[in-house]
Amino acid sequence: MSLPTDKNLSALLDERRTFPPSEEFKKQANWNDPAIYERAAKDPEGFWAAQAKSLDWFTPWERVLEWNAPWAKWFVGGKLNVTDNCVDRHVRNGRRNKAAIIWEGEPGDTRVLTFGMLEREVNRFANALKGLGVVKGDRVAIYMGMVPELAIAMLACAKIGAAHSVVFGGFSAEALRERINDAKAKVLITCDGAWRRGTVVALKSAVDEALKGTPTIENVVVVQRIGKAAQISMEPLRDHWWHELVAGASAECAPEHMDAEDMLFILYTSGTTGKPKGVVHTTAGYLLGASTTHRYVFDIKEDDVYWCTADIGWVTGHSYIVYGPLANGTTTVMYEGTPDFPDRGRFWEIIDKYGVNIFYTAPTAIRTFMRWGEDWPAKYKLSSLRLIGTVGEPINPEAWMWYHENIGHKRCPIVDTWWQTETGGIMISPLPGITATKPGSATRPLPGIAAEVVDLEGKPVGPGGGGYLVLTKPWPSMLRTVYGDPERYVQNYWSRYPGIYFTGDGCKMDEDGYLWLLGRVDDVMNVSGHRISTYEVESALVDHVSVAEAAVIGKTHEIKGQGISAFVTLKEGIAATDALKDELKNHVAMKIGSIAKPDDIFFSAELPKTRSAKIMRRLLRDIAEGRVLGDTTTLADPTVVAKLKDQYKDEG
Ligand code: ATP
Ligand code: MG
Repeated sequence: MSLPTDKNLSALLDERRTFPPSEEFKKQANWNDPAIYERAAKDPEGFWAAQAKSLDWFTPWERVLEWNAPWAKWFVGGKLNVTDNCVDRHVRNGRRNKAAIIWEGEPGDTRVLTFGMLEREVNRFANALKGLGVVKGDRVAIYMGMVPELAIAMLACAKIGAAHSVVFGGFSAEALRERINDAKAKVLITCDGAWRRGTVVALKSAVDEALKGTPTIENVVVVQRIGKAAQISMEPLRDHWWHELVAGASAECAPEHMDAEDMLFILYTSGTTGKPKGVVHTTAGYLLGASTTHRYVFDIKEDDVYWCTADIGWVTGHSYIVYGPLANGTTTVMYEGTPDFPDRGRFWEIIDKYGVNIFYTAPTAIRTFMRWGEDWPAKYKLSSLRLIGTVGEPINPEAWMWYHENIGHKRCPIVDTWWQTETGGIMISPLPGITATKPGSATRPLPGIAAEVVDLEGKPVGPGGGGYLVLTKPWPSMLRTVYGDPERYVQNYWSRYPGIYFTGDGCKMDEDGYLWLLGRVDDVMNVSGHRISTYEVESALVDHVSVAEAAVIGKTHEIKGQGISAFVTLKEGIAATDALKDELKNHVAMKIGSIAKPDDIFFSAELPKTRSAKIMRRLLRDIAEGRVLGDTTTLADPTVVAKLKDQYKDEG
């Protein structure tokens, strides 16, 4: 691992272009007092305790924090229930008939669940789970498409104190089996199938395959989403239809009184850096992190229609489709399909249709929208949007500007939100009523969050420096351990700097103290002794008019230590020529300096990405070094990497 400290880092980070918060946001924002940062820094525990009053507790906590690094307990002695906070209390407090979930199916069918309806559906299914023998402390695996029953299943687990482990519905049978066995899940909830680009994803047959090697699973619950066309078979005794189970179930279910530190869920990371880890989140701290950040970062108002485009199979969906918005009583949109079906205007059509006010998506999606052109969003009315956000990877300034102009219409602040599965909620982000934004920067740590950029010895680099991003104080929604592997928890996150959380991300701090994420530190190259971040070179490449996406890796080089290989996807209609390769190399040299000039460029129609849309650079490194491919189970489309491997062999 090497440290990204080079001087040339600033070549692409546009520190001069700042967008101050608008007067409108300053006036109305939930958080608009800049002094909040200092107050929270002085007394983080007091700050979090004040926020925790926004939750409903059965028994108040005795101590805010017990910290024996790296083991944290937040709100010691407190008792509460997550589902009581996300659903029941809104029914009690006047939101019974407010839309909780607006769901849109891929074929265009829709469902709206009010908080009152959601409460009853959750209770029925919670009782059905009890009927299958699920008790507090059990693990329940969930492998579904994006249908309302997915959220209902999670909330039902939380209501009775079972921990859920949601496995993204695009994973293979093998990946599912591995996760079920790691969590020792007792029940599996699935669908007969899911719609994706007009075809059926065969979820149930993957389940049948996975369950050949999962001794702990006793019962399977199947949601009927597709019907006949799914052509599934039901295993007698083991498999039950969701609709049959809930038909006879009572719509009343008292919430389990959970300890603040009881496990709420396990979620496996996307695996960009190796075998997925079962990240454990607990009840009070996680809910507090998700709800507080949702309310303040997105500046949520009572009437808002809020849409996060992530899949619930990832932490973004857990925190910002389900738990954060519902805890705040916010109407959350849930969409089953992809942005390009039936056509490339689908997302903008949904914003137009429901009058979405807040839209949250990923930079890779934004770059795809750029590639499709601004005519698509221009066909729809997006004037309801008030605030837009991004998450998942660094956003290059060009994509930021495109988003700002074509979706935000230069009116909506952009919140660039940095966080990880492990942090549970947003850690670094602008606050729209306070923070000026800069295209490409996640800006500053949120109030109550202690982030630093440090060098190899752990010394803060200060403004103008680059190094590792670390978190120097515990925070409520932090992961508590890696499920079944506490060693790995200590080793992976707390051993580089004792008592300090190692994020694994490279970062630069500019003269204003703003943070610029540079991607994973394993994605830093060492070219003739210069540390160059893959992100920097990728950013320079996508800055070229012909380039849609780029992935850059360091490849062993006899003289330079590492050479730079770039995998480039061109915009539609651009021809892949050798002349263009030279042009791109020179473009990078012009943007960053000749030291960063790629040694080779490969044109590729697609890049290997995880299901959460992160580029798997470690697989590209395997290809470039001619190694056997590492774990590919978390790839969105495993054929992409196989094709690339062949192409690389032919051309390389
Ligand atoms: P694994 O831990 O298995 O390697 P992963 O890190 O991809 O998987 P996630 O928690 O989904 O798992 O991703 C978090 C990472 O995504 C961060 O560490 C960071 O590298 C990147 N990231 C997320 N949001 C941003 C952002 N706004 N700006 C820059 N990078 C971001
Ligand atoms: Mg991670």
